[in-house]
Amino acid sequence: MPEKNTIIPIFIPHKGCPNDCYFCNQKKITGAKSDISSTDIINQIESYLRTIPSEGNHIEIAYFGGSFTAIDRTIQEQLLAIAHHYKLMGNINTVRVSTRPDAINDDILDLLVKYSVDIVELGVQSMDDQVLFKINRGHTSEDVKRASYLIKNRNITLGHQIMPGLFGSSIEKDINTAVESIKLHPDIVRIYPTLIIRDTEFERLYRQNRYQPLDLAESIGLVSLIYAMYMQDNIKIIRVGLQPTDNMTVGKDIIAGPFHPAYRQMVMTNIYVESIIHYLRDKETKKITIRCNEKSYNYIVGLSKKGLARLHESLIIEDLSYIKDNNVELIEIQIQHENIRLSERNLIETFYTICKEKDYVSKRDYY
Ligand code: SF4
Repeated sequence: MPEKNTIIPIFIPHKGCPNDCYFCNQKKITGAKSDISSTDIINQIESYLRTIPSEGNHIEIAYFGGSFTAIDRTIQEQLLAIAHHYKLMGNINTVRVSTRPDAINDDILDLLVKYSVDIVELGVQSMDDQVLFKINRGHTSEDVKRASYLIKNRNITLGHQIMPGLFGSSIEKDINTAVESIKLHPDIVRIYPTLIIRDTEFERLYRQNRYQPLDLAESIGLVSLIYAMYMQDNIKIIRVGLQPTDNMTVGKDIIAGPFHPAYRQMVMTNIYVESIIHYLRDKETKKITIRCNEKSYNYIVGLSKKGLARLHESLIIEDLSYIKDNNVELIEIQIQHENIRLSERNLIETFYTICKEKDYVSKRDYY
């Protein structure tokens, strides 16, 4: 049986960060309002470890939030030593930190290697320098390139985090951010469509009608394409959309923007359903059976059955039926005597082709 990935998340709220990016209220995002001590961290790890069975679990300590490698070096070393200790004891398998691209250099990487950090996630946000300037990010795309190169050079797993829909960005700039990020070969990616969070500069700009975030439907279309672009290059997408916490709901800490608790499912439904429509659009037959495993069945049906509704309104087929069958690898479509097997890669490639046909992204932009 494959190991289950279990993360022990430790949030370092705004710690060490000299910046004030316009989208960020780190203390709100992490749900934590004050600094945490080494004792807090050890207690947190111990209490997680008590609940996680050691068998069949790949356990990771992840320092999220803030800019880990910009923290005072002594504190950084204390935090790394804690994680390293649990790794040496065999209680955990990997250690992850997240940070800013301009807080990576050879000295810092020496420290991360000394404490056997396995994954470094970079807050890329955008690869457009004008956008980075407009959101007061305080670094350039060149910093992202340099930091990515240095991290890969140490054989540390590289993560990129990007934010479509930032102030000053556009569909083209967001697609180009994915293009430029892909060229740097991240191993893992998080895609966070920009939200307006309470008590941020973005809230002020939004209330002054100077900035409109993407709406939900628009963002699902764009993020689906970006998702397909990364998948085409075999880059793993580990998160799409912000994780809901008690306060992270529209009307509480989220003022506006494309937030949905099932955001990733909406993206997957879009990719699956549009691709299936593309496969079947020219088929002249009365009866089609779509047989799929549970995961793809849920994606095809979609939230409030919107995926099914889209299939029915787009295909002129009298008898369209669906069968849930976990013996099927992903999806099989039976059309009279023909049996089409679709893998996730087929669907992603098809979706990417559809986007290109619609001139959503040109080949010249892509490579
Ligand atoms: S660098 Fe990170 S923690 Fe600092 S303000 Fe920007 S997003 Fe927030």
